[in-house]
Amino acid sequence: MRLDDIPRVPIAHLPTPIAELPRLSRALGGPSLWIKRDDLTGLAFGGNKVRKLEFFLAEALHEGADTLVTTGALQSNHARQTAAAAAQFGLGCALLLMGQPPQDANGNLLLDQLLGAEIHWHGGPPSERDAALEALVDQLRSQGRRPYLVPHGGSNRVGALGYILALRELLEQSRRVGLRLDALVVATSSGGTQTGLLLGSMLFGYQGRIVGISVGPAREIVLERLAHISQRANQRWELDLNLEPDRWEVHDDYIDGGYAVLSSREKEAIRLTAQHEGILLDPVYTGRAMAGLTDLIRRGEFARNQNVLLWHTGGTPALFAYSIALLAP
Ligand SMILES: *Cc1c(COP(=O)(O)O)cnc(C)c1O
Repeated sequence: MRLDDIPRVPIAHLPTPIAELPRLSRALGGPSLWIKRDDLTGLAFGGNKVRKLEFFLAEALHEGADTLVTTGALQSNHARQTAAAAAQFGLGCALLLMGQPPQDANGNLLLDQLLGAEIHWHGGPPSERDAALEALVDQLRSQGRRPYLVPHGGSNRVGALGYILALRELLEQSRRVGLRLDALVVATSSGGTQTGLLLGSMLFGYQGRIVGISVGPAREIVLERLAHISQRANQRWELDLNLEPDRWEVHDDYIDGGYAVLSSREKEAIRLTAQHEGILLDPVYTGRAMAGLTDLIRRGEFARNQNVLLWHTGGTPALFAYSIALLAP
């Protein structure tokens, strides 16, 4: 199947820029660092879910859906980007967020509300989330609505398409500037982003490393997700790839206090990047990816003449929900 024939609604501002990070590279004394700015995809502060939503929207509109439904954490970037995509196309949006409604709406949760999403809360255990999501979809149907379910993190064979094409976009850009990349570093969680990059690298001939830094799940769980999504995408889109799991690199050594719990490592990574390059990372995903990259550089994982790219996947609105923790000594 030709990837360019798969229906897609062009909502992202593409290609997103790539840039060299000379001051940060010098400060860390390691390889030449680069960044891919998927925080600049547009759509309500942007991020990596916008590339995935281009394909979900196409399916939803084709099916005649009138409401996008999805789920995420309290500060879910995915939920915020889904709410924005729905608003742009005149669809409703129902979000099932984990936990209890907080006293004040901040960061992404504030934006969800400004974007007009209906917010439902799942205070029960995470193992019951899928059942709660199905119940929400049934409830919307019984009200005569036509919901379209976007999976958690936008990570399935459809969402992976966004990052298969993103890898192709990056290779075209790097060829144009004569850049040969040795490694890509990306925050990984529900796995659709890293899976897309892996499949894209096989399809379009990128030979370097793709280093996933887990922001929460154990390495084995992420590897299972990558295997599952890549098999489904390989079949559905007839990619004819011989999947090579030995190339799949996931680090789970940077999770410290757990998902979305800020540690001194993320704080250092966010400050370093902000103060050497004027680029803002986020407290949950890209801050952790950069903390991992910083540690790998310090441990001598990359040679000085190598080129290593941090994939900025967005998430910056969450900075405002972490102001106290970020400023604490
Ligand atoms: C969702 C998200 C990720 C992780 O992407 P997955 O496809 O879920 O692995 C990384 N960074 C940011 C900012 C995100 O919102």
